[in-house]
Amino acid sequence: MITLALSKGRIFDETLPLLKAAGIEVLEDPEKSRKLILPTSHPGVRVVLVRASDVPTYVQYGGADLGVTGLDTLIEHGSLGLYQPLDLQIARCRVSVAVRSDFDYTSAVRQGSRLKVATKYVGIAREFFAAKGVHVDLIKLYGSMELAPLTGLADAIVDLVSTGNTLKANQLVEVERIMDISSRLVVNQAALKLKQQPIRRIIDAFAGAIGKN
Ligand code: AMP
Repeated sequence: MITLALSKGRIFDETLPLLKAAGIEVLEDPEKSRKLILPTSHPGVRVVLVRASDVPTYVQYGGADLGVTGLDTLIEHGSLGLYQPLDLQIARCRVSVAVRSDFDYTSAVRQGSRLKVATKYVGIAREFFAAKGVHVDLIKLYGSMELAPLTGLADAIVDLVSTGNTLKANQLVEVERIMDISSRLVVNQAALKLKQQPIRRIIDAFAGAIGKN
């Protein structure tokens, strides 16, 4: 049995065409079903639904043989024990710094003042500001980061931006783009050895379907 870990939403939706290219169809809609393990049209392949930030953990420890996860999540988790054969070029977005439209970010950064930054991406934010020589106090959040500058919790946020509509709706502006993000296929290294043939078949089919939707 091959187990593929996916998270609901954009990653699940955008992985479906890749699975189809591998001749695999998921037989239940995760938005309608309460099941966490979904059967597929291929009796030897199943999908497990996990929280996005848990995908690398499932694959690393063998709870799943393969998974699809955003580069953001992968960087924060670390990629120890994970083979990363493909950039799937799905769920594209960017990690950016955003502030309230009335906050003078350029001066704050130039003057070397301490910046309070709220984010779920503590590792990415720490490295980015350290490389710029900017002192930051990092505040780890798990939910909507957009609220932090509006309530005075932080001066800036580091968050995923796609269309920019969420920032705009909350009177925030994107002031720096830290990195471009897309989702990666990650594979458990032991599974790759033990189940080489079926896993290789999936990797090859995914590779042939990248960018075609
Ligand atoms: P947008 O309004 O299109 O810029 O989307 C921003 C919101 O969607 C933020 O709350 C982000 O955290 C979230 N978001 C954007 N792109 C992604 C993605 N690829 N994966 C997960 N969350 C995302």
